[in-house]
Amino acid sequence: MTEILRILEQMYPNPKTALNHDSPFQLLVATILSAQCTDERVNMITPQLFAAYPDAYALADATPDQVAELIKTAGLWQAKSKNLVAAAKILVEKHGGEVPSTREELEQLPGVGRKTANVVLANAFNIPAIAVDTHVFRVANRLGLAQGTTPLAVEKQLMEVIPQEKWRDAHHWLIYHGRQICHARKPNCEECPLKDHCQYYQELRTDSQKDD
Ligand code: SF4
Repeated sequence: MTEILRILEQMYPNPKTALNHDSPFQLLVATILSAQCTDERVNMITPQLFAAYPDAYALADATPDQVAELIKTAGLWQAKSKNLVAAAKILVEKHGGEVPSTREELEQLPGVGRKTANVVLANAFNIPAIAVDTHVFRVANRLGLAQGTTPLAVEKQLMEVIPQEKWRDAHHWLIYHGRQICHARKPNCEECPLKDHCQYYQELRTDSQKDD
């Protein structure tokens, strides 16, 4: 475990979210948009969106149709435009226009589930949390860091085996590794510096030895 974290840290120094943002509000909006959408696509959308709606007050005054015009290239744009406006209204009505910094309050915002709340907690407020997306889920299971069938189970197991001060970085390391090497369909195991520590790779090797 320690060795896996050490190698990941070496491979991916200074990890951070790929979503461009300048404030907790912008990160919240970008993270809501990122469901079923690539970070690159979100980063193409947000400059115009943030220019039109720079804060929760401006977004709360918009209609979902107005927002939809700016986010139509994102997946699920109809639901997201409604959620963004509804979330902004709650920020204005209950939180003085600011993004709250507790999981409970974040998860009460439309479009915000546990994963999005964890991204905002960790990246906007530096509160330790591990957001489990598809990359984190897959890579953690393959490496043997977790053996869960749900994102929540994986999150809980990762929180047990990874020191709290590394939670945020570990989330990013696993995403980077999933994007660059441990691909969903064809993990590039032969080039992977983690292969000697990876449960999936060791099992593959054992299976192929049995076949010989
Ligand atoms: S050895 Fe293969 S399965 Fe394991 S982490 Fe590396 S790429 Fe992923």
